[in-house]
Amino acid sequence: MKPADKMLGLYVHIPFCKQKCAYCDFYSLAGSEAQMDDYTEALCAHLAETAPFAAGHIVDTVYFGGGTPSYLGEKRLAKILKVILKKYRVQRDAEITLEANPDSANDWKALKALRKAGFNRISLGMQSACAEELAEIGRIHTIEQVKLAVEAARKAKFNNLSLDLIYGLPHQTMERWQANLAAAVELSPEHLSCYGLKVEEGTPLFARRDSADLPDDDAQSDMYLYTVEYLERMGYRQYEISNFARTGRESRHNLKYWTLGEYAGFGPGAHSDFGGVRYAYEKDLAGYIRGVQGSGPLLSESDRIPDMNRDTEWLMLGLRTVYGLDPRDYERRFRRRFTCFLPFLTQCAGAGYAVEEDGRWHLTPQGFLLSNQIITQMLEVQNTDKQRRAEATARGDFHVKLD
Ligand code: SF4
Repeated sequence: MKPADKMLGLYVHIPFCKQKCAYCDFYSLAGSEAQMDDYTEALCAHLAETAPFAAGHIVDTVYFGGGTPSYLGEKRLAKILKVILKKYRVQRDAEITLEANPDSANDWKALKALRKAGFNRISLGMQSACAEELAEIGRIHTIEQVKLAVEAARKAKFNNLSLDLIYGLPHQTMERWQANLAAAVELSPEHLSCYGLKVEEGTPLFARRDSADLPDDDAQSDMYLYTVEYLERMGYRQYEISNFARTGRESRHNLKYWTLGEYAGFGPGAHSDFGGVRYAYEKDLAGYIRGVQGSGPLLSESDRIPDMNRDTEWLMLGLRTVYGLDPRDYERRFRRRFTCFLPFLTQCAGAGYAVEEDGRWHLTPQGFLLSNQIITQMLEVQNTDKQRRAEATARGDFHVKLD
């Protein structure tokens, strides 16, 4: 690796699902299987034509997300990955993740072919271990299929496996959630993501939210705090609001998002932060295919964001992880003192919401529960500090008093 090489993550969006789940507002389509081949071709072409722009980068993570990537089938997936491995400078030990649903990832031979193609991490959408809950949210897999998929992945030599779970599901009690978590831990994944259900507008679940018997905010908070404590006991350290891992098994790709790393996304709806520009593609499968073929627009948004203007993001993303905020990093990146945040952070520490460790500030599990409010207040402090500096500069007072 040359000293000037930068690291890059690649995200490949696979927007196909066998059936839409009742709570889902991701860009994914059911009933569009006929476009899978054309889409594969478009992705391969788009990846290949973008590769020269990443010539100065080493790709250290690749993530196939969805939708349901495993539903695309191992041949198409291997074909896309082959283009990446051939056209990009992919690090020898790059983390290459495939998101999969249990009903389309329990054939160990297909998984072995994917392992051979280069995928080395699998993230399974388990969501629940309870048949009624799975049915309630429109998932089409069974708990038996989850077990089969884990067995198949292990047999295919995937030694880095993650399970996704959702708490706060309709009719869910604390006991039920505890049983779901225990069932997931029983399967010995290296990594667990546990998300609180968000009932998004426009989804079928939103339409019947009043009769869905959803656990209230307090019940969700209790489930969350139990999750952090239980998983810690079981050897899974929390490293982000919703993510837990055995030592060294944190998702390197997701950490990139939270630490302002560079990533390039491909596919409809995919976002990128690459070469100082933040951009996204239209959420339109047919439009994306046409765009890659050169007969239509691809981008839905694009903004050039200078490094100095990433201070807001730095705060918001940093407070999501247990690595938190490093004052020296803030001062180095943005040429501003971190001291303006100390009175508020000290107040948070007094209330048990934040802690300073090894010179860094991070939220506690109780703080993560209030992260939206805490982040909003941190941003207000940051704005006040910026205004003070702007006013001082306008007055010609270039030596702003540093607290
Ligand atoms: S499988 Fe995932 S992406 Fe597909 S509909 Fe369900 S939640 Fe959405």
